[in-house]
Amino acid sequence: MIFTLDELTAAKKLFFIPKLFITEGYRANENFTFCKCSKTLFMVHNETANIWSHLLPGFYFCVELILCATKQSVYREMQHWESRVGSALGSLSIMFCMFASTSYHLYMPMSSDWNNRLLKLDLIGIGIMIFGLTLIAIYLSFHNWPQERLYTICGMAGLCLFHFVLQMTPCYTNPFYDKHRVVLYCGILALCFGLALYGRFYIATEIEISDFFPKLLLSYLWLTLGFIFYATSFPERFYRPKWVQLAIPSHFWWHVFVFMNGYTLYWTGIEFSLHVEEFWVQGSEPGSPNYKGN
Ligand SMILES: [Zn+2]
Repeated sequence: MIFTLDELTAAKKLFFIPKLFITEGYRANENFTFCKCSKTLFMVHNETANIWSHLLPGFYFCVELILCATKQSVYREMQHWESRVGSALGSLSIMFCMFASTSYHLYMPMSSDWNNRLLKLDLIGIGIMIFGLTLIAIYLSFHNWPQERLYTICGMAGLCLFHFVLQMTPCYTNPFYDKHRVVLYCGILALCFGLALYGRFYIATEIEISDFFPKLLLSYLWLTLGFIFYATSFPERFYRPKWVQLAIPSHFWWHVFVFMNGYTLYWTGIEFSLHVEEFWVQGSEPGSPNYKGN
């Protein structure tokens, strides 16, 4: 059931996905059903670390969603429905990404058709997390600028829709377009970063710049670190022991840093909601265009 890459190459009938620099732990079976694949959740193979590194964070955000819905923990302090809806949508978009990724890594060896479908779901999940969190961030951070907020949200929602339609095309998951896809995601993230800079220099108040902008930068740092592991196939490219390939492959680190990115953005969003609420309750914040004080 678990093969090395050489053994799999000999058994050509079986469907498998060779990974760059990983020679151990391939799952293969002539009749790989949904149940058989599910059982591999508790086995050691070259997807174990990738599966659990997104399954556990998925459950974590599930718990946050329940706490938010039942107004417990930090969510008890929220007085506006917008904050709760924002938190719920934030945890839902990260959860979708985490569980879509888990399904892809768990069920990918079923057949080439299933691999293709689940890869599409995995990529849609990444899109939902990026655009979901960006739209919530725009809604919150442009709170003093309703007109600009409306235009920016419409623009990003349009781009999100266009990206979704693109993801539905059959060639989107074609390995020939792997590099094009990476360029597309980098372009979208660069646009999001441009929006963050626009917020930093033209929209944000002094308190927001000092308290929240560094956290936003930290979330981009996590993503950049993850991308470095993803792009360089470190450590399995340089260290070939079996345990390195199975326990801490580059894709595992990519998953860990994507979670760190989502975690940082989620909690920055929660703190920002509470900050914004303070001024919804007390009036406009010093430095905002609506400020009526001295
Ligand atoms: Zn993955």
